[in-house]
Amino acid sequence: MHAAVTVSDTGTMANRMVTIKKDPSFDLLKTFWVNLDDKTKRELLVVDSRKLIDYVENKYVNKVKEDFGKCVSVANNLRWRYWKCHICSQVYYCFTDCQRHILDNHVQKFVPDPSARPKCVDKVLADMICCGKWEPVNTVAAANLIKDRAKHGEEFVYVNGWCSDWPEAKDEERSKILKQFAQVLKSSCGNENDTLSCTLWDSLIYYTERNLQLLEVPGSYLDKCSFFKNPQCICFLDLKHLEHILNYFRQLTTDVRASLVPKVVNRFWENSRVKETIGIERLTSNLLLDGRLLCEEEHHFDDTGSVETFKSSGIYEHVIPEGDKMVSWVLDCPEIDEKLVSQMGEGVHNFEIWLAALRIVRGMVRKKESYYDKRHRMVTYDKMLGEAETICNREDNRKNVNQRSTYASALRMKCEELVVIQDDDTKCFLNVVRDVLERAPSPKYEVLTDKEYMESISGLSTAVQNDIVIKSLWKLRKFLTKKFHLIDSKILLNEFTQGELHEFPKLSAIEYRMVVLPFVKKFLQGKLKKMIMKTKEDDFSY
Ligand SMILES: [Zn+2]
Repeated sequence: MHAAVTVSDTGTMANRMVTIKKDPSFDLLKTFWVNLDDKTKRELLVVDSRKLIDYVENKYVNKVKEDFGKCVSVANNLRWRYWKCHICSQVYYCFTDCQRHILDNHVQKFVPDPSARPKCVDKVLADMICCGKWEPVNTVAAANLIKDRAKHGEEFVYVNGWCSDWPEAKDEERSKILKQFAQVLKSSCGNENDTLSCTLWDSLIYYTERNLQLLEVPGSYLDKCSFFKNPQCICFLDLKHLEHILNYFRQLTTDVRASLVPKVVNRFWENSRVKETIGIERLTSNLLLDGRLLCEEEHHFDDTGSVETFKSSGIYEHVIPEGDKMVSWVLDCPEIDEKLVSQMGEGVHNFEIWLAALRIVRGMVRKKESYYDKRHRMVTYDKMLGEAETICNREDNRKNVNQRSTYASALRMKCEELVVIQDDDTKCFLNVVRDVLERAPSPKYEVLTDKEYMESISGLSTAVQNDIVIKSLWKLRKFLTKKFHLIDSKILLNEFTQGELHEFPKLSAIEYRMVVLPFVKKFLQGKLKKMIMKTKEDDFSY
């Protein structure tokens, strides 16, 4: 009975295994098989193609017969398995070629400037994140410890981002959330999944700094210990703040909807894999089953699916049958799925899900382009905010006080000087100055004509005081800084998910053996049963 379990190592087969075990004919067939001579066993590997077709013709309706015929007649291309582009019907015999064709021809390209790519946290920080124990710290005891050490001029020593001196908090709830948060961090800065941007990390540290409860502890002492440069500072946060960062980071580092697609693709892919080769005897077109079915050892998937042709069934002469794997294999057979037979025969297997996946991939590329476009605007805006700040500072630094202009008029003069230059930076500078003078709460990124900009700037430049300009500049910069980690996370997550989605051409696999083998197995089941009957009759006649 154990032999049945070795038929397949895929989880999806588990249910079928149970069915085999329950099949009363298994024991009968097994006993019968053991008593067969080697020659008869080897002969069972040769499937008479005429008889197989007769079997299908007698048992199934026309449509099934017709589609089975398409799948079994492979003599022309000598492949059981191929890859089909469902847009232009181009056929490939290698997955990589098909994947390249689909991505190159049917998915639009967008290659951003490498310098525009958001930076991920570096390896040193990633290692610190991954090696930590992430235990919550008792902040009251920690504050006392800090005060005590500060008094004696002692510092906390960190090794690879972690210091073992901090008193642990016995708080299960905090510990649980912190562990989950650490898992999110670790899974977004591994080798394969680089989605943790520097800007997101900085925002996390900033958040931690603002919400940390360490009473009466001087900030300067913490700075001296590089407290906020080590990930352990997050372990000082209380439950409410930990829950907040956990939810926030989950949203920014995982795309639940898109990550389902690779899972589905892989499931379909696994289901389409076949281990057994099927050769063809040249003169008779008989199917020559995989000789390894008579042997005990496991073999790997045959993803090439080429059809070898042989002069005769003499290829099995060297095979010495062992065990009863063949019986388990023959009985491990799903019911004939007419829909699958039809889809495979027509070469449209997985067509709908293939199209859906292609639409998602195309959508991701469009998103990527718009994210990079937005980030570019933000970077330019940030740069121009810096220019505006420099202009204001220059006025402050003029030695002759009488020569100083107001910030607003200095900015206006710069705009008047630049307006003749028609480039993106200039347009953005005009935009920034107008936003500053209008006290806009956030960048507007509007596209106006130079005249419209200048009218607005000239009108406001006489009325806006210096302190308003400073406040406005500060507000815009703060807003922008907050938004950088969002766009960076979106870009990195999009790139990662897109990379995973590029596996979707696996859905292009057309595997005729998925159709042919169940019919062969059914045919062999009948044949074996007939042989048993015949033996019984022979025994009876003696
Ligand atoms: Zn194509």
